[in-house]
Amino acid sequence: MDLEEKKNNLGEIVNRYRPDIKPFEDVYRHLHTNPELSGQEEETAKIASNHLKSLDFEVHTKIGGHGVAGILRNGDGPTILLRADMDALPVKEQTGLPYASTKHIKDKDGVKPVMHACGHDSHVATLMAASTLLNSAREHWSGTLICIFQPAEEHLDGAQAMLDDGLYDKIPKPDLVLASHVMRMRAGTVNLHAGPLLTAADAYDVRVFGRGGHGSAPQTTIDPIVIGAAIVTKLQSIVSREVTPGKMAVVTCGSIHAGNSPNIIPAHLDLQLNVRTFDDDVRKRVCGAIHRIIEAECQAAGAVEKPMVKLTYSTPSTINDGKTIDSLRETFQPFFGENLVEMEPPAASEDFSLLATAVGAPYVMWMFGGTDPETWDDAVAKGTVDRLPGNHSPFFAPVIQPTLRTGIDAMALGALTFLKK
Ligand SMILES: [Zn+2]
Ligand SMILES: [Zn+2]
Repeated sequence: MDLEEKKNNLGEIVNRYRPDIKPFEDVYRHLHTNPELSGQEEETAKIASNHLKSLDFEVHTKIGGHGVAGILRNGDGPTILLRADMDALPVKEQTGLPYASTKHIKDKDGVKPVMHACGHDSHVATLMAASTLLNSAREHWSGTLICIFQPAEEHLDGAQAMLDDGLYDKIPKPDLVLASHVMRMRAGTVNLHAGPLLTAADAYDVRVFGRGGHGSAPQTTIDPIVIGAAIVTKLQSIVSREVTPGKMAVVTCGSIHAGNSPNIIPAHLDLQLNVRTFDDDVRKRVCGAIHRIIEAECQAAGAVEKPMVKLTYSTPSTINDGKTIDSLRETFQPFFGENLVEMEPPAASEDFSLLATAVGAPYVMWMFGGTDPETWDDAVAKGTVDRLPGNHSPFFAPVIQPTLRTGIDAMALGALTFLKK
């Protein structure tokens, strides 16, 4: 490699301009100790926006709640959007880390423990550091860089809220949207996965109306518990009988509640359902079948009032753009070497793709590992990887390094792949 070539090698740029990571480790620990629930990310947003302001970004705040968008214009070229989510979860932390959260927050349902159990604290810290790196390396790239700190990912409505609040009236429309997520993988590793990555998620609140009465006189009532039991059983036939074998679909009833006494038949029953799919056709079929079955079971029982089926959240599947993955692989492979690993996509959901599909742009999310390498290797040897704490576990405790450094490098390298001169 001659000197000129070496100067323009993207990995070299990342290595040369990577900032001192210590201050970002401090940010990470601070965020971990002080997590904020979805929609309440005020302090986290302030830390992120103040950081972007300290660089040369044009900064917009309070977009769709506490959303932050920074723009760094650096000549002709594509507009690349990098996204980090900021919110934590109502989980009681049990990691025993010296910087563990002991925080409780009040929301509409009462006082709850709060923990960064999905690692979004690492996303904020890595995007802050990557923005510093790209800001310092400006002479090596051309185009427009956008860094977004998104609220309320765990409620799957933060991206839509930013769009509804006129995000793309405030910032240029991106040609490509990139994001990353820390996962139960060996720390230091990165995974690029083309095609279906995360499932679509639809959730329903269902209320079945019967007619209440005395437990000893069922003939005078319409028992919603019997209707509910039939619905839950019949829902199991959707995936087994209506979805093409081999296609991905999950229908889960996560909550069922009715009545509070042995001798009273209640007037109604509540169910909460969750649906996961990849294909749009499968999604339509499954969601249609849910409505059909609930209504038919109510009718079969002679219920007078129609059931209520309310969609409480809905987010599309995340399908990584194949061409973008190919380009990323070209720069990630030489840089990460054997740390670029294969991984089965997790059965989780995300809303960041909306930031891309809203403007017809392609998008990619990659994963980076957070599990202590020694712990990981030990679990692989024992065949107990599945038992390691993953995202949303009260024991989820990414090691700070090499997790953060890997996240930062991948984010900067990912952006440079498309912004390079
Ligand atoms: Zn999560
Ligand atoms: Zn997450």
